[in-house]
Amino acid sequence: MQSLTNRSKVVVKKEMSFAEKLYLPAVAKGMMITMSHLFKKKVTINYPEVERPRAEVYRGQHVLKRDENGAERCTACGLCAVACPAEAITMEAAERKKGEEGLYREEKYAAVYEINMLRCIFCGLCEEACPKEAIFLTDRIVPTEFERDDFVYGKDKLVEPTKKDERINIGPRQTQTTIDFKKNPEYAHNLLWDPNKKIGPKKGH
Ligand code: SF4
Ligand code: SF4
Repeated sequence: MQSLTNRSKVVVKKEMSFAEKLYLPAVAKGMMITMSHLFKKKVTINYPEVERPRAEVYRGQHVLKRDENGAERCTACGLCAVACPAEAITMEAAERKKGEEGLYREEKYAAVYEINMLRCIFCGLCEEACPKEAIFLTDRIVPTEFERDDFVYGKDKLVEPTKKDERINIGPRQTQTTIDFKKNPEYAHNLLWDPNKKIGPKKGH
């Protein structure tokens, strides 16, 4: 038979010697290999106390942002859910009532907003689809859980705190182009919300 490579080896089942039958040399050899690894640099880390450095654009746990006045930016338009290739986002819209202007930025808001973190592939398409700059992925790792249901994140875990010093910083993941875009006061995204005024993009945008 023609051999395709010269790497083939003929295996012979030879008789074991007395020393081999004792297995002690093999055990000693194995222990020496184990001991030699004790003094090598560890490849493991003590997560979660220690974390590996991640890329600046790492896409982790989402945040639903509030505006400058603390009102939720999400208007439950559903574009993020439509854009999501993993069908991880579900929501229920509700109408803002009189007196709730400080809670919700627009007349419609998400009464229920859920992301199933087990379905999510952290592609970031929800962030790109959102016209209200309401949803962002952050550099936070989704913590481990023991129950599948605990991976369904509702508004309690997604909406950022109201206090300004507790807000979630999304800055490190933004590219310079995005930062420049957000500084441009001519875009509707960047206008300060005033419930008494009708705001909208200027002509030509
Ligand atoms: S990051 Fe991607 S997969 Fe995850 S919720 Fe957003 S669009 Fe869906
Ligand atoms: S997060 Fe953005 S895209 Fe998704 S429903 Fe809210 S406003 Fe619409």
